[in-house]
Amino acid sequence: MTDQGRLVVVVGPSGVGKGTVIQRALELDPALWLSISATAREPRPDEVNGVDYHFVSRSAFVDMVNADEFLEWATYAGNPYGTPRQAVEDRLHAGQSVILEIDLAGARHVKAALPEALLVFLAPPSFEVLEARLRDRATEDEDAILRRLQIAKVELAAESECDYVVINEDVSTAAAELVELAHSS
Ligand code: 5GP
Repeated sequence: MTDQGRLVVVVGPSGVGKGTVIQRALELDPALWLSISATAREPRPDEVNGVDYHFVSRSAFVDMVNADEFLEWATYAGNPYGTPRQAVEDRLHAGQSVILEIDLAGARHVKAALPEALLVFLAPPSFEVLEARLRDRATEDEDAILRRLQIAKVELAAESECDYVVINEDVSTAAAELVELAHSS
């Protein structure tokens, strides 16, 4: 179908600035649509249910898995996260490009199920910059930060699996590159 939107999966380590770059891309191009994942992790103080995530209980999450409501789902740092299938398919069929902000395991599932999906790796200028950004955020305790840095090392190595790499040196530049990729054919 030619008027189908493009599915763009943005991956990259925790703290690289995926959320910021994607928000800027949505400002640049309001026709893009960001999928809202479901998760059973606790909301952070500034997070809003239905905006940042659909926050659900663990048992509700399991029910959604069993009802095949997820395009993909994965466990990250002990918590389950999933992409609601119906909303994504509706937007794509309506011709909108859809952005997924998910971890590498989820991105692999999406690529296997939908090879036409575009995997975009958002990379930090360096590992030191990534660590500094994670610590600045300071919403996690030291154990959680170390766990995320460990995961980040693994996720950085997966850059080569992706279709494109965008370096987040400057948010506006990275966002403009993402918008361009969402419209590439
Ligand atoms: P955070 O807890 O920092 O919001 O997210 C942790 C990780 O889970 C991030 O790498 C984020 O991209 C990923 N994530 C968020 N939603 C989903 C989802 O629906 N599926 C998968 N596989 N990963 C997700």
